[in-house]
This record gives sequence, structure tokens and C-alpha cells, in this order.
Amino acid sequence: MTEQLEQFRMLIEGKAVDAISGRTFESENPFTGQPWALIPDGGPEDVDAAVQAARGALDGEWGTMTGFGRARLMRLLGDLITVNADRLARLEVNDSGKLYREMIGQLNGLGGWYQYYAGLADKLEGRQIPSPNPNYLVYTRREPVGVVAAITPWNSPLLLMTWKLAPALAAGCTVVIKPSEHAPASTLGFAELIEQAGFPPGVVNVVTGSSRETGAALAGHPGVDKVAFTGSTATGRAVAHAAAENLNPVTLELGGKSPQVVFADADLAAAANGVVAGVFAATGQTCMAGSRLVVHADVHDELVRLVAERASRIKLGDPNDPETEMGPVANGPQYRKVLGYLETAKAEGATVAYGGVADSGLGGYFVQPTVLTGVGPASTVVREEVFGPVLSAYTFTTEDEAVKLANDPPYGLAGSVWTNDVRRAHRVAARIKAGTVWINAYRVVAPSVPFGGYKSSGLGRENGVDAVNAYTENKSVWVELSGQTRDPFTLG
Ligand code: NDP
Repeated sequence: MTEQLEQFRMLIEGKAVDAISGRTFESENPFTGQPWALIPDGGPEDVDAAVQAARGALDGEWGTMTGFGRARLMRLLGDLITVNADRLARLEVNDSGKLYREMIGQLNGLGGWYQYYAGLADKLEGRQIPSPNPNYLVYTRREPVGVVAAITPWNSPLLLMTWKLAPALAAGCTVVIKPSEHAPASTLGFAELIEQAGFPPGVVNVVTGSSRETGAALAGHPGVDKVAFTGSTATGRAVAHAAAENLNPVTLELGGKSPQVVFADADLAAAANGVVAGVFAATGQTCMAGSRLVVHADVHDELVRLVAERASRIKLGDPNDPETEMGPVANGPQYRKVLGYLETAKAEGATVAYGGVADSGLGGYFVQPTVLTGVGPASTVVREEVFGPVLSAYTFTTEDEAVKLANDPPYGLAGSVWTNDVRRAHRVAARIKAGTVWINAYRVVAPSVPFGGYKSSGLGRENGVDAVNAYTENKSVWVELSGQTRDPFTLG
């Protein structure tokens, strides 16, 4: 069996390596339910080696390279990603069951993130600051924060890694990446491009492992200077605690329970399409999934009918087939978790307007796209992140009530407002406590637009011009100009 599996290696100090222990683990294809790749089972000792390599690279050629030089390498990397988009997309499909038709689009666009941040690498300017004391010239320098730990989840591994890696490289940091044990192959495939682009050894390192210990070792490593994490809120908390022990800054992009708020005057066909995009695309396994439909009572029945009708026509199947619209859930634990939430919802009195069960006819981890009604703000399925193709619909009658319901769960990652009233659209967008609000749209992201969460959905923002600052230290430099001797016992 093992001979038929595609074999991958980690990247440490510019070399493709096995785990120090020699151990490997198998990665499963969630469509076939079969192992397809053999992954190095790295542990804390491999994390040590990677962090050491990253530290060494800061002291070497990379540490003295200008932003112009870093930008050149990043542009090459962006181009290489585009050239290799098909292979990388297929690695993601095999590992996570996501649709090829989505992943090839993602991979064709991924290079754009490196091009965008390359454009910032040579524009990291300090400021000359007026000093109240004329004897001093004061200026600031943006310096790389140092070694970055980037810990990523199994849904869209390369996109979510890139949201960390691109600004970190622009800032001049070095990086140790730890992808999820459930979808590690694409990150290892990507690592092969790092050397081809010509990055000095140790600038980017990738460690994989089957145990949570590997991620924990990286998050709490004393040789790391900053931690950037995407994943569940529970693990994000653990990562933040570990980083706090080293007094390290963290960027956390965590779970969501994002509302799609639909007013009675909305274009219901467009809203239904947006709701489908929000919760059934990527089998609902996105942090920004619009998993709550908060809809005006007057149009609830009609909108639910439209969404359920479209859900009934969603084509489940082979993620590599361009006709397929929804693939399997990405892994066994997640499949069982989604089915568990469906059982809980039914036990709590939810009505299934469509779906509500596994689709066992297809093999693999398929769950039917599901529309639940008869739920309310206290329902488990409304409060907790399911991370699967499950929509919960419930009603409001006034704008204030819509806002209250939208903001009720502890999350605040994203949301949408569907209305044809431009005043109401902006009023409600301003009142939704979330890092991203779409108006008459859903699930659009770009390198230039900040993304991140309020409340339990995270800390800090990824993407956009400011994200690069999260990978820098801001140093103040004071230059004495007069040459006079000062009173040493007073504050200058
Ligand atoms: P986690 O959030 O637990 O894992 C994300 C990443 O963190 C993985 O690389 C994981 O490694 C790593 N990790 C795990 N434990 C630690 C730790 N103590 N310190 C540092 N890193 C750690 O996601 P899971 O894959 O376990 O999924 C659990 C649930 O999280 C899902 O059911 C889903 O609901 C939610 N989720 C949410 C995501 C989002 O974007 N909002 C993304 C993914 C999952 P390893 O894989 O080896 O455990």
C-alpha cells in the first residue's frame, strides 16, 4: 500500500527532509476514504530544527536583503504559483475534498497575494518625528519582528497560509509553517517552489506532524517572535496562551457564526443565491460561512423555499469533476461532528426544510446540504460553529431586532445585509459587530482588503496594507545633534 502513496518531505533550512524520527503518517482522501499521501510525522525536535534554521536565516543573507530584493523573490514565487496552480489545486482537492473548480480559481489568484505584498516590501517606510527638544533628530524604522510561527487549518491551507506568509516575507521575517495534519500535502508541495524562487535556506520552513504536540511545540517555542494562527476558537485560545508565555504577539483568525440578514425589500433571488454561496460553497467549511439566515418574517417562507429548492439541485460528487457543486466533508472527525450537530438540532426541535442527513450513496464523507427552520437564538446549531453545509433560518420583524439577533452569538467574523434600501444597508452594516460585512453580496476576499474578527472570531487583521505592520517592530531612533554635555540626572 505504502508504495502507491505519493511521498512528501518537509522543508527545513532549504532542504527537503524526513522527520528526525523517520516516522510518517498517511493523509486520507475524503472523497475515496482512502489514504493517498505519506507525510513526515515531525515532532518537537523537528520544530526545534526549523526554528533554528529560521533564526539563522535572519542572521544571514536574508537579514541584510533590502525590501527591493525581497520583492523580487516574492514576485518570482507568485509567478511560480501560477505556473504550478494545477498541481497545487489537485493536491488540495485530494487532501481536503474541496472542489477542483474552486481550488483552481483560488490557486490562479494566489500569486496575486505575493505580488501585492511584494509591492509593499520596498515601501516599508519609517517617519521622521518632530522632537520637542531641538537637539535631537528622531526617526522610526520598521524592522522585521523575527521568526514567525504560522499555524494553519485544513480548509484552504494555501490561501490561509499565504495570508500570513506574504506579509511576513514582505516585512523581512522568516517563517516556520505548520499545516493541519488533515491536509498537509499542498503546503509541502508549495514548499518545493520556495527553493525554485531562490529564497535563501531557512527563510521558509515547513514542519508537519500527526500530533497536536507539533503545533503546540511551535506556538510556545521560545525561539519564535510572533505567532499567526487560523483555526478553531478553542485551539486559538491555547495558541494565544502559549504565545503569551513568551510575551509574543499573535494574530488569530478563528471561528464564525456569520449572519446573512435579509430584509423584506431585498431581491430574494439574489439573496437566495448569496445564502447558497455563503453556506454550501466549500461544503460550508469556511470560517466566514454565512450559516445563520436572519430573515424578515414576511419573506421567511419564500426565501427558505428558494434556498431549499436550490439546495435540492446541488450536485454532490467527485471534487475533481467540474460539474460537481459540493464535495465531501474534509475528514472523518469533521463528518461525525457535522452529523452530531444535525442530531442535536433535531432533538432541540428544528424542522428540516431540506437535507439533514448524510449522503451515504456516494461513499466518502458526504452530508446533504441542509436547511433548518424552527430554530432560535438559543439553539445549539445557531450558537456554535458547525463548519459544514448547515443553514439555520429564523426571523425578525424590526431593524433593531435584526441587529440584535445578528450580533447575539459570541462570534463576529463576517456578515451580510440584503436590502434595496441604501440607507438601511449602511446603517445595519455599521451596527453589525463583525470584521467584514458584505452588502447584497457574500464570500468575496482580496489581498488589499483587511479580514479578521471581532469578539471570539479573533485578534488582528490579515490582508490589506496594514497587515504587514503586524510583522514588524516599530523602532524609534534618537540622534543627538548638539554635542553638548547634558545633565545626566534628568530625563531628556
Ligand atoms: P484546530 O483549530 O484544532 O487546528 C488548526 C491548526 O492548529 C492545525 O494545524 C492543528 O494541528 C494546530 N493545532 C492543534 N492544536 C494545537 C495547539 N495546542 N497548539 C498549536 N497548534 C495546534 O482545527 P481542527 O482541525 O482540530 O478542527 C477542529 C474544529 O475547528 C473543526 O471541527 C471546525 O469546527 C473548526 N475549524 C475552524 C476553522 C476556521 O477557519 N474557523 C478551520 C479549521 C477548523 P493538527 O491538525 O495537527 O491538530
